Amino acid sequence: FSARVVPLTTPALDGTVAIVSLHNLTSVRRAERMRADFVANASHELRTPLSSLLGFIETLLGPARDDGEARERFLAIMHEQALRMARLVEDLLSLSRIEMREHTPPDQAVDPQALLDSVVGALELRARAKDMRLEVRILDHLPVVGDKDELAQVFQNLIDNAIKYGRAGTAVRVVARRAEPAGDAAARRVGRPVLAIAVSDEGEGIAREHLPRLTERFYRVDTARSRELGGTGLGLAIVKHIVNRHRGHLTIDSKVGKGTTFTVFLPLAESAAQRPPQPAAVR
Ligand code: ADP
Repeated sequence: FSARVVPLTTPALDGTVAIVSLHNLTSVRRAERMRADFVANASHELRTPLSSLLGFIETLLGPARDDGEARERFLAIMHEQALRMARLVEDLLSLSRIEMREHTPPDQAVDPQALLDSVVGALELRARAKDMRLEVRILDHLPVVGDKDELAQVFQNLIDNAIKYGRAGTAVRVVARRAEPAGDAAARRVGRPVLAIAVSDEGEGIAREHLPRLTERFYRVDTARSRELGGTGLGLAIVKHIVNRHRGHLTIDSKVGKGTTFTVFLPLAESAAQRPPQPAAVR
């Protein structure tokens, strides 16, 4: 925060007055505004399933009290709404936990193979339900610096989205390879050798105008569709925050009608970064 004192002479005031120009006022205001919007959005997202739950409870306590068939149907809907609220609260808590840790970078060495195997294993059933294949190819077996649980959440969110928004019967591909600041713009932004882990789907894709806002909290291309698929609108905001905490970088490439690739660039662990890269020909 910085303040500048500007001497100003005006005929009306007949003298010199000091105006304090608050340089960062706009960014402080913007941050306040974003926080207020966030609280309003989160409350709205919670209020919708909550109103529906209250409505069904009142119906079950009143007119439908003795209607066994309605009770079954309503309970199933109420279960779905309660699950939606639980997912939302989980994601809100995750975001606030990550925000609190954002200024202390993680320091474990994380093995990408073990990380991705565990995430893919947990999502296999969901992929199979849409007749989709999950393929993982690690071209460079190199550890990254990170927090295992947070990185698991990153790839869980990205692969889950690839399954949700991917076409039934297609593949979700995860490819990990080393990249150097000298030859790769994203690695240059990180400022050191990285492992680039790309998650690609063959899905509907995302129109260009949405890409810059995609990692904002509650931003969705199609809100009704996201809700129908069980989305909270917070998955990519969580991904972005975790990648920032890791001093990494995230890129999104998409072609409408063809598919989308999210790539996470993570700094290599010190020991791996010092090893010279393998020439591409011997891979
Ligand atoms: P959601 O819970 O709605 O999936 P996310 O934050 O994970 O929220 O994603 C935000 C929005 O970005 C989604 O609602 C969707 O419109 C879009 N999106 C995310 N991943 C993909 C993808 N792989 N393909 C197409 N659209 C995607």
